[in-house]
Amino acid sequence: MEKILPARARRFDERRKNIEKGEFVVKSSKNDLDELKRKVALGNRIMFYQGLADYHGHVSARIPGTRKFFIKPVLAPLGEIAPKHVILVDIDEYMEVCEQNYAKAGNKRAVTKIKNPPRETMIHAAIYNARPDVNSVVHTHQTIATAFSVAGTPILPIYNQAAVFAPETPIFPSPRLIYTVQDGKEICQTLGDRAAMLLKGHGIIVCGDSLEYATVHAIYLERTAYMQFIASCVGKPSIMPTSEIDYMKENMMFRSYDAFAYFKSLLPKNARL
Ligand SMILES: [Zn+2]
Repeated sequence: MEKILPARARRFDERRKNIEKGEFVVKSSKNDLDELKRKVALGNRIMFYQGLADYHGHVSARIPGTRKFFIKPVLAPLGEIAPKHVILVDIDEYMEVCEQNYAKAGNKRAVTKIKNPPRETMIHAAIYNARPDVNSVVHTHQTIATAFSVAGTPILPIYNQAAVFAPETPIFPSPRLIYTVQDGKEICQTLGDRAAMLLKGHGIIVCGDSLEYATVHAIYLERTAYMQFIASCVGKPSIMPTSEIDYMKENMMFRSYDAFAYFKSLLPKNARL
């Protein structure tokens, strides 16, 4: 394990430096972009058919090595998203427009006047801005994990697929919707370098290196919350040993692709892409 983790850290560091220098690690072809749009549509559909999102919530993916990402349009039910609906957001442009609208609105909080992206696109823009290691962000209002936020109880790494939530999911202390650049900065402070966080009285955020990783861990977050709830009823939930957490964290970087394929296979025939 000691040999793998520094390599991963080096990869992230290299990517960060390249993005800062404006050099893209990956040049995406049109086919790559079409495939990424298809994956964004699939990620949204999977969250819908897992019962974790309706028309609230969104799955996004960064175009690798850039400050742009794909996201579903506002208010569209997640289960019906097709690649042609997926829209492109430039992080810097988005933040600038949000700042201008905020100033125009006299510092009122209802400031998102941009037509197509979801109202809480700032969640995605702020995290991609703060975390060059993140290539996908999922935000939902899923029931059980959100209930933990309301109770002020962090979700813990209590089973293998929950290892990435170690040492625990931080909790953002406000239910307000995340519209402004300042809101974005604040959630990033709470998130730190973690893979998941809870938004008290609001929902959850999961992020990761790939869309597959972020999507499947949003599902595992709900399962972990359910498992932790049951474990708390019958005893005291115990956290996995650190060595096992480290092993599974690394392992899930790869296994997420298989897990995503599995959840994709559960989509009804008429919802497959
Ligand atoms: Zn929300």
